[in-house]
Amino acid sequence: MRIFEIVKENVNLREAVELYGIDVNRYGMALCPFHNDRHPSLYVAGDHYHCFACGEHGDVIDFVSKLFRLSLYDAAKKLAADFHLTPDKPPSAAALHAKRIRTEAQQLRENERLCFSVLPDYARVLRDWKVQYAPQSPDEPVHARFVEACHKLDETEYYLDILCAGDSHERAEVVRQQMSDGKLEELRQRLEDIHKEDENDNNTADVA
Ligand SMILES: [Zn+2]
Repeated sequence: MRIFEIVKENVNLREAVELYGIDVNRYGMALCPFHNDRHPSLYVAGDHYHCFACGEHGDVIDFVSKLFRLSLYDAAKKLAADFHLTPDKPPSAAALHAKRIRTEAQQLRENERLCFSVLPDYARVLRDWKVQYAPQSPDEPVHARFVEACHKLDETEYYLDILCAGDSHERAEVVRQQMSDGKLEELRQRLEDIHKEDENDNNTADVA
């Protein structure tokens, strides 16, 4: 079948894996989509992949066939369409499906980036507050920032752990939770204000 040859010759496995929303790290490892993978077990090398955890392996056509539950022939057709190897044909349903998956994966990555631009900063601020505003004696009134640090620091670090090491479902859940009701944007603006405030305090201290 000519389509198999065309696809194998023209489609890079790693590019295909990434096109369908799976990040491959610089060691060629990725979270395996064929089992609930928490640490990258899928090795993507040259024209073959192999999962050290569940044992799945094959070439780019096997990969797409398993990922989208398509026959090998349909998988090859889908790859040909997604990589524009048959530009004269209109996009198939499978190609449109891939486009949707790609958009969702991109959206998730973008939202993850937003979380990573806010949550580590928040954790840093809370860590500072926990020390800076700790009551020095038992009868001293407890500072609101100390209370917030006690309540929120563990939670924030827990979410960061998941974003760093969780599987794609866990990460998506944390991102969804963080982005709901504009919570993350609110936090980002609040952190901006806090940093501005701190800067002003420092400037005043310098003048004095
Ligand atoms: Zn696996």
